[in-house]
Amino acid sequence: IKNLKKYFEVKNSFLKRNEFVKAVDNVSFNINKGETFGLVGESGCGKSTIGRTITRLYKPTEGKIIFNGNNISHMKERGLKKHRKDMQIIFQDPFASLNPYMSVGDIINEPLEILNISKKDRFNIIYDLLEKVGLNKGDIDRYPGEFSGGQRQRIGIARALSVKPKFILCDEPTSALDVSIQAQVINILKDLQDEFGLTYLFISHDLSMVNHISDRIGVMYLGKLVEVNTSDNLYKDPLHPYTKALLSSIPIADPDLAKNRNREILTGDVPSPINPPKGCRFKTRCKYKIDKCEYIEPELREIKKGHSVACHLTI
Ligand code: SF4
Ligand code: MG
Repeated sequence: IKNLKKYFEVKNSFLKRNEFVKAVDNVSFNINKGETFGLVGESGCGKSTIGRTITRLYKPTEGKIIFNGNNISHMKERGLKKHRKDMQIIFQDPFASLNPYMSVGDIINEPLEILNISKKDRFNIIYDLLEKVGLNKGDIDRYPGEFSGGQRQRIGIARALSVKPKFILCDEPTSALDVSIQAQVINILKDLQDEFGLTYLFISHDLSMVNHISDRIGVMYLGKLVEVNTSDNLYKDPLHPYTKALLSSIPIADPDLAKNRNREILTGDVPSPINPPKGCRFKTRCKYKIDKCEYIEPELREIKKGHSVACHLTI
């Protein structure tokens, strides 16, 4: 993903002109084959827009998306068709993403129909997938409404897997679920990744969840990537002031550990992505701000192997 931009045009009827929401504003990073890349940040920072643009649900405004060696950034639907199968999505809300009038069998079968597979083989694939995600063969004739939230997300995972994708975008796949169910879904995703060599882009605002599942993590703020590191090192050695603040907002169960840590509380609101601040976008909330931050935008730079930061203090 290179210099990716996704702007949405909105009407400002008060000013009588159109403006652009700069949801993703010049973002570059790689996702390696077989890894889980986590994207974190507050809601509205552009995480989902990145996911939907690189899987080409959205057309990018600018920039390059290379998938499996193919430049799919501006590919037309006809050319995209053969790549669509390799990129699947597991959505946040299993309640909304499954058609209530389709049986589980039909839901999982739908993406399979575009492939040239006999009916008997399709049945076998569906039975096999139900088992892999922890559902029963008998569930094939039941409807989404008969299942719990966690079970519905299992159906969503089975559907995504049916066409043997290489890459899966997991957009907040557990945030609509009870905490007790979240771990089960995460474990299924991990097992399936090992079994099929899947690559994940895992989007979440839940930092402990992302840490648990990801190999590397990118932190987003207001349409930009501000820090990228391996997940272990990001948590041990956060350098961007925004990452530090995000991490210190994670609750710690042990009262002694919690007492001894330096909490950095984020104050103020996220500025509008229509008119992001000049210079560093985080300057309105940053307590380390220096003069330069007012007018020069910090670029994301690699400061150590595998660790990149966009902050004037780290150069
Ligand atoms: Fe803070 Fe300046 Fe770094 Fe931005 S560039 S995060 S304002 S110190
Ligand atoms: Mg989102």
